[in-house]
Amino acid sequence: MKDLAQPWPRVIILMDMNCFFAAVEQQDNPFWHNRPVAVTNGKQGTTIITSSYEARAYGIKTGMRLKEARQLCPELIQAPSRPYRYAEISTNIMAALQSITPDLEVYSVDEAFLDATHCQSLLGSPLDIAKQVKQVVSNVSGLTCSVGVSGDKTTAKYAAKLHKPDGLTLIEPWKAEQTLAPQAVTEISGINKGIANFLKDYGVITCGDMKKIPISIPAKRFGNVGRRIWLMAQGKDPESVQVNVKPPKTIGHGKVMPPQTNELTTILTYFQHMSEKVAARLRKHQYKASHFYIGLKIQQGWLQTKTRLSSDTDDGHILFAICRQFTMQHWQGQGVWQVQVTALDPHTEQQADLFIDSNKTQQRSKLNTTVDNINQRYGEFTIAPLRLIDRSSMPNVIAPAWKPFGHRKTI
Ligand SMILES: [Mg+2]
Repeated sequence: MKDLAQPWPRVIILMDMNCFFAAVEQQDNPFWHNRPVAVTNGKQGTTIITSSYEARAYGIKTGMRLKEARQLCPELIQAPSRPYRYAEISTNIMAALQSITPDLEVYSVDEAFLDATHCQSLLGSPLDIAKQVKQVVSNVSGLTCSVGVSGDKTTAKYAAKLHKPDGLTLIEPWKAEQTLAPQAVTEISGINKGIANFLKDYGVITCGDMKKIPISIPAKRFGNVGRRIWLMAQGKDPESVQVNVKPPKTIGHGKVMPPQTNELTTILTYFQHMSEKVAARLRKHQYKASHFYIGLKIQQGWLQTKTRLSSDTDDGHILFAICRQFTMQHWQGQGVWQVQVTALDPHTEQQADLFIDSNKTQQRSKLNTTVDNINQRYGEFTIAPLRLIDRSSMPNVIAPAWKPFGHRKTI
């Protein structure tokens, strides 16, 4: 029945998949249902990326060594991760959620914010809409999620973690402040240890304490982020669901090399690394570019070029081809200090591009999207061209706890 209460001024919903990777493994391997499952990075992986609730009941945690986990739970099932499968399901879920509202922010591979403010007359009360979110996720994936509903992002995220698995928690916007007040500030997503320590010096331990200090204190120390956390703690997080992010002026990556590097393979490895980084960042924000700066720093200054491609790209493969060609043409064996690759005209994709895309670019673009999803979750360059996986001076760190990155500072 439709709630006849007044619509909320803002309805923000956070959808968080429950033990996403482990849940996918349990669903695809019926024998693993209701059993302790730990997902590791391939068969050889020794660190647990995530685990099922049954495993968590034994005290198994993300980041734990498999060996240690087996001591807690000898019957633990090791599931080698299948990132492509997770990416596929994630993509389906996010696409399905768009049927509820296009105001959707894909926050990570298994989390999304929805701004349902404008859906209330059509879809019902905030509670009704939250139920629909769970239903849509369940229909499209067969999996459960936890949903938090409130009037701002921070409170919605806080609400979502209160009831897991398969939870639905609603905190009315006018109750957000009092609900958060007794909680430690560290319970709020985005307030890390460093910020918490700073606040402690001013007597701010709980969210409720935040009111006792002027906004200027965190603002002076952390700028806009400081202003935001002051509001966040009071259930008044002003940040909107980021559907469209303004294109930045340029997107570039450079790296300082061991001084006077003069090995071609090393230089190309650095170029490929930077090409992939720039391309991944373009794709993360659904940008493409056609105008690129390529630079190699030698003793006398920069060997450099600006290249305009005949069509837009977000493919590291293509960028690296330009870098390679540039190196072959302009580098004469001198010592090199630094490389730089910059997209000079990042912009959102033109609709027309979708139609002129050849089959091959479509295939590359599908592949790239999937790889991005995986790397977002597991850490940068978990999947990368062979040359980069072998690169010696740039350790390939796999981060089990994914954090948002990119030009947009998300807290
Ligand atoms: Mg989750």
